[in-house]
Amino acid sequence: MSTFDGVVQEIPFISVDRFDVKREPMPKIFFLTHCHTDHTKDIFDFTFQKKLIENNAFVYATSVTIAVLKKDYNLSYIFSQLKEIEVGKTTLISYKDDDENEQHLQVTAITAGHCPGSVMFFFEGDQNVLCTGDFRIDPSELHKFKVFHTSTDRKKTIDAIYLDSTFFSKKYPHFPSRKETCDALCKTIQDWLDQAPDRKVFLKFPAKYSAEYLFIALAKNLKQIIHVPTSKRLYSFIPEMDDVVSSQNDINNYRIHTGLYFNSKNSNYSCCYFNDKKSILLIILTATIWENFSSNKSSVKICENENVETIRICLSFHPSYKETIDFLKYLKPKRVELCVVPEKEEDKEEMEQLLDTVLKEIWKDTTNKEGNVKRFKFKTYDSFEFKEENDVCVNNGYTNVKKDLLSSPPRKKRM
Ligand SMILES: [Zn+2]
Ligand SMILES: [Zn+2]
Repeated sequence: MSTFDGVVQEIPFISVDRFDVKREPMPKIFFLTHCHTDHTKDIFDFTFQKKLIENNAFVYATSVTIAVLKKDYNLSYIFSQLKEIEVGKTTLISYKDDDENEQHLQVTAITAGHCPGSVMFFFEGDQNVLCTGDFRIDPSELHKFKVFHTSTDRKKTIDAIYLDSTFFSKKYPHFPSRKETCDALCKTIQDWLDQAPDRKVFLKFPAKYSAEYLFIALAKNLKQIIHVPTSKRLYSFIPEMDDVVSSQNDINNYRIHTGLYFNSKNSNYSCCYFNDKKSILLIILTATIWENFSSNKSSVKICENENVETIRICLSFHPSYKETIDFLKYLKPKRVELCVVPEKEEDKEEMEQLLDTVLKEIWKDTTNKEGNVKRFKFKTYDSFEFKEENDVCVNNGYTNVKKDLLSSPPRKKRM
């Protein structure tokens, strides 16, 4: 859960993933990385919305994120203040500085691989700052992101990263890749369904708008349409989901089901109440119980029996400890702000300590007159580039899923 207050020290007139009406002066530009509620805090507050309109300020987000917001929440009052930002393209946003002079902020929205429409924001100017929001990107793919490289293919200086630190802890050294999770899920479902024609599967996910890429893979690999009772409302603006999910009432036509809520106490599977629980396999996809996962030694799935057959499969939409370190090692930020900080003071200190060690390690080979870590020293970035970044791609770990589901343009109509 994000604990970030939205303040980007290097660019004090913006706010990212926080719509705090009490912040003074009110930020001039707001950014939203994705639609999950720990990042949309206070956007639904009427006082905030009123102030947004009075100041003629805008909220920038991808078209999918805006479509989700419009669909799921009543934001009609500020529709005109929501601006779409194109993924993979560098955009100049104009604003008035305190002396009423027109200025420009350069920003690139980069696919974050977290949920449909999720992006990181890379701001370039006197200081280059990356706000990751929530993300999961294979660090070995980072060299493909042109936005982090100059035209001569050198890595750009990054002054600060505002980091998704959800699993930045030694407890979570590794997670299975998306492909490993997907393979384990497909095999588990197929094995179960093959045993008898009346067998069914119910999938439980940690968040709304998260596992859509898995639905696509399941539909393709298992030749099954997934029954999602709310899919008409959730996905009508994501064309890739058309042949993948169905919200029809006749649940007996479907063998794989999912819903937003699962109440294990009364075994009410949201949409569907199955009388014969013996025929149902409940699969819970989650990351938090997978402490100390090791690719070689650990299984991606754990079987357990409550009152129904239950299997847990490891699925993470955030980077593991190792992935986070590799991400930082590649981008070499001078400063890092942790955006998901644990509540307990000792856990928080431990995370800060870990970060310090990682940054020292990253910068240890850098010769510098003042010696040691240069976390707080800034250099001016002097070359502006306006390059198209359309070939940036996130490797989801398997081939058949369109890379752009996570950033696809929504279908324009039917809101
Ligand atoms: Zn989050
Ligand atoms: Zn999220």
